[in-house]
Amino acid sequence: MSVRNVLVVGGGFTGLTAAIALAQRDVKVTLVDKAPAWARVGHGLTIQGNALRAFRELGILDEVLAKSHPEDDGITLFFADGRVMAPMHTPRTGGDDLPPTIGALRPDLHEILVAKAESLGVEIRLGLEMTSFENNEDATATSVLSDGTTETWDLIIVAEGIKSPTRPKLGITADRAPSGLGIWRAVTSRTPEMKGGMAFPFTGDGALKVGYTPVSEDQCYIFVLCRPERPDNGLPDWQEVKRLMADFHGEFDYLRESIDESTFLNFQQIEWIFVDAPWHRGRVLLLGEAVHAVPPLIAQGAAMCIEDAVVLAETITPAGDLEQQLAGFYARRIPRIKGVVDASLQLAEWETHPGTPGADPGRVMGQALAALVPAP
Ligand SMILES: Cc1cc2nc3c(=O)[nH]c(=O)nc-3n(C[C@H](O)[C@H](O)[C@H](O)COP(=O)(O)OP(=O)(O)OC[C@H]3O[C@@H](n4cnc5c(N)ncnc54)[C@H](O)[C@@H]3O)c2cc1C
Repeated sequence: MSVRNVLVVGGGFTGLTAAIALAQRDVKVTLVDKAPAWARVGHGLTIQGNALRAFRELGILDEVLAKSHPEDDGITLFFADGRVMAPMHTPRTGGDDLPPTIGALRPDLHEILVAKAESLGVEIRLGLEMTSFENNEDATATSVLSDGTTETWDLIIVAEGIKSPTRPKLGITADRAPSGLGIWRAVTSRTPEMKGGMAFPFTGDGALKVGYTPVSEDQCYIFVLCRPERPDNGLPDWQEVKRLMADFHGEFDYLRESIDESTFLNFQQIEWIFVDAPWHRGRVLLLGEAVHAVPPLIAQGAAMCIEDAVVLAETITPAGDLEQQLAGFYARRIPRIKGVVDASLQLAEWETHPGTPGADPGRVMGQALAALVPAP
């Protein structure tokens, strides 16, 4: 075995799934996260079949399906006035025996991952960051954590997300960049007839797109895609979101009406990053959104992170030379991730420039997802 003792820095989807996949293969894993406690915050998530296939390998598919809502029939595309534009079928990227897409609440998925990691003996320490690290001559790396402890590992996996403070310390100069898009997210009620959809505006200074994904029998996750700057118009957040949705009708009238001052809303500018291989220096390896993050236009961000974790554990746990194993890992991951990055950036470009001649989002989305059907 190339690695027996691993530190994972960051307990998001990437860090937790990497910890689970390694612990399943008898690696001793310690995971630290800067959060002082796991908080039940966050909105919904669209999870596609290829991520479900990875969840099956991690042994948590049943738990995930029990806490989610399947979208077996795909979603509906609407004109902003509420008329149906077209049905949109999502390819079964995880194979015919898995739903093409599910909707779920992030805190539910996170709880499932934490419980699985703990059941496999992963030691989780919260409220800690890695303040420094050093590669040693004996093919190990030493970490210094924010509580002053110094420990040595066969491998340190850095899964700190897109703002990773360790990335530049490894000499990687690629950095996150704006996508030209902003997004509001909320969880609200839905009616049983509302099966999931996206609507596109005609003109105006409202949202660039509004969509929703069912996450349970009576709830859905809404996203409102918009310009990256939150206008200083004096409106409280919930009224700003209603303003952005004002020209969207049909099912979107119901969604807009269900937003009020008690709705938990979150706005963020959407950034992206792509770091080409290698993602490691010595025995310190970046993983997940620390090295690839995309505008969420084909809902593959977390899926790519979870696949990273499963493929990494498969690759580096057999006996062998870690450098060669990581070269094999990059060969499997980079082309697949690059396809998602390129498609997502193209879609973001078309979102920010409505009416671009030749724009064909359906084709780009379909091709990008079809490429993910073979297992990673
Ligand atoms: C608006 C939006 C919508 C999205 N929708 C979807 C979707 O529908 N489907 C999908 O598949 N993907 C989606 N994504 C992408 C998905 O959310 C991300 O790909 C995924 O959450 C990234 O996981 P991660 O673990 O790499 O990073 P993060 O989720 O950022 O986790 C990083 C973790 O590391 C911890 N941390 C950070 N720095 C340190 C440090 N220095 N020391 C210790 N701990 C640290 C943080 O506390 C956090 O727990 C979306 C993204 C955005 C922005």
